[in-house]
Amino acid sequence: MSMFKDIPVDVGVIYEGERIRRNDMQVELGGPTVKQKFELARVKPADQIEDGKVSIIGPDIKDIKEGGAYPLGILVEAAGAKLDQGLEGVIERRIHGYLNYIEGFMHLNQRYDIWIRLSKKSFQKGLNSFEPIGKVLCRLFKSELPIIEKVQVTFITDPAKLDEIYPEALQAYETRDAKARGLKDQEVDTFYGCALCQSFAPTHVCVITPQRYSNCGAISWFDAKASASIDPKGPVFAIPRGEMINTEKGEFTGVDETAKKRSMGEVQQVWLYTAFDHPHTSCGCFESVAFYVPEVDGLGVVNRSFKGQTVNGLPFSTIADSAAGGRQVDGFHGMSIEYMRSSKFLSADGGWNRIVWVPKEVKERVKDFIPADLVDKIPTEEDVKTVDELKAFLKAKNHPVVARWAAEEAPAAAPEAQAVQVTEETAAAATMMPVATAGTLPIMAGGFRIILKDAKIYANKVIIQTIKDDKDKR
Ligand code: SF4
Repeated sequence: MSMFKDIPVDVGVIYEGERIRRNDMQVELGGPTVKQKFELARVKPADQIEDGKVSIIGPDIKDIKEGGAYPLGILVEAAGAKLDQGLEGVIERRIHGYLNYIEGFMHLNQRYDIWIRLSKKSFQKGLNSFEPIGKVLCRLFKSELPIIEKVQVTFITDPAKLDEIYPEALQAYETRDAKARGLKDQEVDTFYGCALCQSFAPTHVCVITPQRYSNCGAISWFDAKASASIDPKGPVFAIPRGEMINTEKGEFTGVDETAKKRSMGEVQQVWLYTAFDHPHTSCGCFESVAFYVPEVDGLGVVNRSFKGQTVNGLPFSTIADSAAGGRQVDGFHGMSIEYMRSSKFLSADGGWNRIVWVPKEVKERVKDFIPADLVDKIPTEEDVKTVDELKAFLKAKNHPVVARWAAEEAPAAAPEAQAVQVTEETAAAATMMPVATAGTLPIMAGGFRIILKDAKIYANKVIIQTIKDDKDKR
């Protein structure tokens, strides 16, 4: 029975982490094939909010064709005596959690990158309109965050209206992000952690510092501070910074202790400013990921919305799969776009001096934060397509990594890093192993999360199938 009698499907924390495959979906909203998508929270004066009101601008779910992907904007407007603009990021990030409580409703990512699927099963049960979805959001906002006194939700599917509101959303994100720039990690004694993604990545905790934004790019240090203060039992919590035990790599005693505790011992050490050895864990909704390119001893960066193949011939989804799930994988670092604007951006690895490839879209967005003399030395997909072309480009431009090649006779050997060399052959060879092993194997069942550590699974027979429809999941 539903938590809410007038909602046609069940609602509860048990549905967090539920995945909906393409074959099972009624419709997709946002996602990689759709350009117009966003979610935005705004704090307004009380007299401008009609509490509990749900508006739909454009076609409703029942009016759109089964199996398609459609544009969507979600606008949550809230009022409350103790609310101010500084809490908009906190309210906005809760949309992800609350929508995932709805049976057969999957929400991924954040801000301008949302990706939603509604299952056929829930649609057939009667969840065929944004109206009940909005009602759930309004009720959960008020019950989980009592600081919100009035809230209204608008779903926008009309392309013209989306065009009108989208610039406002981008401006709101930029204003929030800019606020956190300038403050330094050493200047505060409290960092914040977020465990919201543990439903998908059980050993993951985002460590949010002034100079390292959350992986999803939706929570700055200020947002996290506000979130922890208004909802101390919520997913965002304070981490006493403790001592800085490794200035270069960004290791803090408080962070290590929290990571150990929250990952149930899986993660022992976290280095915040590097992609090597003990990098920050990568969940599943990071905006971008840095990956080691051994042939040039540099790091490439690819973002979620990049459609093609990166310079090593792999798409975002394959590289993301190599890092995701709450693991610490040597040579990878799941991160936000905003982190690239920080002076601590992979600073232990050389920062921008070590970045050898980046999609054009990302480069344009962070251009002002790349040292001026480096901008033309970092190629995009328009400049190079292969590692050989990359090598030639870097050499011709005298990129700083070229000096490393001279220092190391065989740069490709760099032993400490795990190279991104996943090919069909190596993947196939791996699947031939008679025993499956996993450092961390999460199982979700009946509302419980069971983690098998260092698991080895023996089977008489292994059937391997390619799930083609699911290849765009990430
Ligand atoms: S990516 Fe990090 S900050 Fe963002 S919701 Fe997930 S755990 Fe929280």
